[in-house]
Amino acid sequence: MSSPLLINAAELLRRPGSERLVELQTTVGELGIEDDPRLEADAEVDVRLRLESLTDGIVIDGVVRAPWVGTCRRCLEPAAGIAESDVQELYQLVLTDPEAFEIVGDQLDLRQMVREIVLLDAPATPLCRDDCAGLCPVCGVDRNTVVCTCEPDRADPRWDALSELRAQLDAPG
Ligand SMILES: [Zn+2]
Ligand SMILES: [Zn+2]
Repeated sequence: MSSPLLINAAELLRRPGSERLVELQTTVGELGIEDDPRLEADAEVDVRLRLESLTDGIVIDGVVRAPWVGTCRRCLEPAAGIAESDVQELYQLVLTDPEAFEIVGDQLDLRQMVREIVLLDAPATPLCRDDCAGLCPVCGVDRNTVVCTCEPDRADPRWDALSELRAQLDAPG
């Protein structure tokens, strides 16, 4: 069974300067990503690339989209989204660039490249949404759904000291 992530590039390599568009879907599991709580095995990863051949390799640019899940760092509710990553990579017949991937047997193996991007761009400390209001530091309610009347100053221990002092002054001597 051949993987859709294995691209035969013989045709491209014969004609430097030629282009090919590649659109494919794979899954987190097919990429060989396991045990990453942000990435569910059956989550579908969308890959759209433009391949352009050089005399000694192939330049790739495009976009990879991968769904992620997590816990919002502010309100602690479930969070989910799609990480969209710009791709710019080089595949070479003979590796001279330390960042490049190797072309083996006229084939581009996109698997490792896409896996690295998906792992890198899934957020480590996500937000459920950009303007998440988070939890109230005083009473702990989720301020996205509940309006509380807490004033942040009330949590300041200096007020306790002041009111204690006032109570002492007011107390009949
Ligand atoms: Zn949130
Ligand atoms: Zn509150």
